[in-house]
Amino acid sequence: MNSMPKDKTIKCITCEDEFVFEAGEQEYFKSIKKDKFTGKELPDGMPEPKRCPTCRAAKKAIREKYFSKQ
Ligand SMILES: [Zn+2]
Repeated sequence: MNSMPKDKTIKCITCEDEFVFEAGEQEYFKSIKKDKFTGKELPDGMPEPKRCPTCRAAKKAIREKYFSKQ
């Protein structure tokens, strides 16, 4: 029997705030077997996030701004 994942607290590498990596999200990350950007195989699923949702959103916004300038 699989043990149910539990919510996990991770410290963001950017702002050092702690955020919760929810059990449901962990299952979702594990279910992804291929990186959608690089096409790289991920036998163990996606690695867990290193940044809090706020920093991830900020990073994404910067990237989108940069690309939309071209
Ligand atoms: Zn952060």
